[in-house]
Amino acid sequence: MAGHFLLSAKARDFTLEHVEKMTAKAVHDYFVHARWGASGLAGRPTCPECGTIDKHYWIASRKQWRCRSIACMRVFSVTSETAFADHKLPLKKILRAMMIFNMNVKGISALSMARQLGVAYQTAFVLLHKIRESITRAVNKEPLQGLVHMDGAHVSGKVRKPRVKLPTTKMQARDRYPADAFPRHPNRRIVMAIREVWPEKGKGAKRTIIGIVFSEDSASIQRLAQRYVAEGATMHTDELAGYTKLSKLFRHRSVNHSREFSTDDGVSNNQAESFFSRVRRFIIGQAHRVTPHYMYEYMNEMAWREDTRRDPPSQQLATLAGLAMKWSSLKWRGYWAGKDRPFKVRVDGYANRSLDDPELQQLNFKG
Ligand SMILES: [Zn+2]
Repeated sequence: MAGHFLLSAKARDFTLEHVEKMTAKAVHDYFVHARWGASGLAGRPTCPECGTIDKHYWIASRKQWRCRSIACMRVFSVTSETAFADHKLPLKKILRAMMIFNMNVKGISALSMARQLGVAYQTAFVLLHKIRESITRAVNKEPLQGLVHMDGAHVSGKVRKPRVKLPTTKMQARDRYPADAFPRHPNRRIVMAIREVWPEKGKGAKRTIIGIVFSEDSASIQRLAQRYVAEGATMHTDELAGYTKLSKLFRHRSVNHSREFSTDDGVSNNQAESFFSRVRRFIIGQAHRVTPHYMYEYMNEMAWREDTRRDPPSQQLATLAGLAMKWSSLKWRGYWAGKDRPFKVRVDGYANRSLDDPELQQLNFKG
């Protein structure tokens, strides 16, 4: 069928109604399959402790297995050592949450998820972050090839517009002064999107990699491009000064956005632009505000949505369940129980550095 994918029958191959109709056993089997594949379904799960694949003792009353290895005897469930370890939610609710997550293509707020699922806000908040964390950890960071579009967007830490319109003091007329006349907002971050474009015309982007930087400057751009774009690729960007040096490293074309969206010979960076147009809708409509704290995860969620946009829901759900079964949560396990999360705010090239690090400030952080 021609037309938009989301209007096609394929985009409705699995719905919330399908989830509702699943029995408790079917839901359990779904996660078993997502985690261990056919071997798990055949009653041979892998013990998360010792790695033994066997017909472990099934304790039906507890929906748990006991490891058959005498040396181990670990009791485990389908969610042990996964993002949903120690969960208190029924598995069906988790599956329903994943389905709701998938259906809302521009993202979903924790408040909306809480009300649709009938759980506390805190529960929905952590649940969504666990899903995002799984997605983020699974990102394929192999260098992008062929045609690559790259762009940046300023999504957090904007200086407020002045309260009064007629400037009486310098502070009240901030936006009439050049940007560097004022110290940068401490939360200022730029999201960089680097997207590999399908060679076939009209197919859009294939794979997306996200970077977080302090500013769209030459050093940050080069660092990201060298890390995530393969040699020999062709890069399309806009004409911002920070991109000019890419010409030394790649075949590089740029579009002057004050003049045109694509050049006469078809050069555009539309795939990076369209990513950000969806990101902006997500921020306005769902997140309302994205702080540096969760920015990397939010942006990877949006990138995942983009990159799986033509997968039928049945497949999106299977992928998502598979990712959630892959690792235990580093950041969100026992979050509301007050466990301190052992992670720092992500900035590419400056990972795990404090924001008041003098070297960092000297580089491009005026504070
Ligand atoms: Zn074992």
